[in-house]
Amino acid sequence: MSTELLYATDAYLRSFSGLVTAVEGDSVTLNRTAFYPTGGGQPHDLGTLTWDGGSASVVEVRKQGGSVIHRLAGGVPDVGAHVQGEVDWERRYALMRHHTALHSMSGVIYQLYGATVTGGQMYPDRARMDFLLPDLSTERLQAIEARTNELLVEGHPVSIVILPRAKAFAIPDLIRTKVNLIPDGIEQIRVVNIEGIDQQADGGTHVANTREVGRVRITGSENKGKGNKRIEIALDS
Ligand SMILES: [Zn+2]
Repeated sequence: MSTELLYATDAYLRSFSGLVTAVEGDSVTLNRTAFYPTGGGQPHDLGTLTWDGGSASVVEVRKQGGSVIHRLAGGVPDVGAHVQGEVDWERRYALMRHHTALHSMSGVIYQLYGATVTGGQMYPDRARMDFLLPDLSTERLQAIEARTNELLVEGHPVSIVILPRAKAFAIPDLIRTKVNLIPDGIEQIRVVNIEGIDQQADGGTHVANTREVGRVRITGSENKGKGNKRIEIALDS
């Protein structure tokens, strides 16, 4: 049975109730969840599950087909049990801020240099992004950081829309990202639009407005070969 992904339409949902649909060892599948499973460069959430007579820490969350599997420490509820989930909000919100920071920066790098992103990874306290740009100078790094911060502070809204495949593929911004790699069978595409900055097909959680990101600081850069560059960032405030 597939799991309803509550975080996909409401990234600010911290607690929810659900039903255990399967148990295997120390892992449970729920009918719905606000816990984000590892994917798209964003690490899984942590938190707690509570049920009648017990509670446990959620130590790992992963997606398997349409199901979200929560690995628990400290006990396991029975199939059919009603559970209350609580997401570790400090960690999740930090990941949301870093995720929106990376998308914004990817929009800036494309606008300034026409460079496309090849990968990214977020952590609660830092993030990194890889992109194809043979020539990355100190001046360019400074320009990327300055332009990103200029845009973030303008307070651009971030909206999430779920579009039929054909409609998503018609958005010019999405063509340069990995939308063409989305498997044929997937008919609904979730699009994260940082209005006026960046638009991507993406499954992750984001803040609602770029002002929530704070200031981006480039903390390092690295040559990854074949024109690939890596930028490391941290957020101030
Ligand atoms: Zn993303």
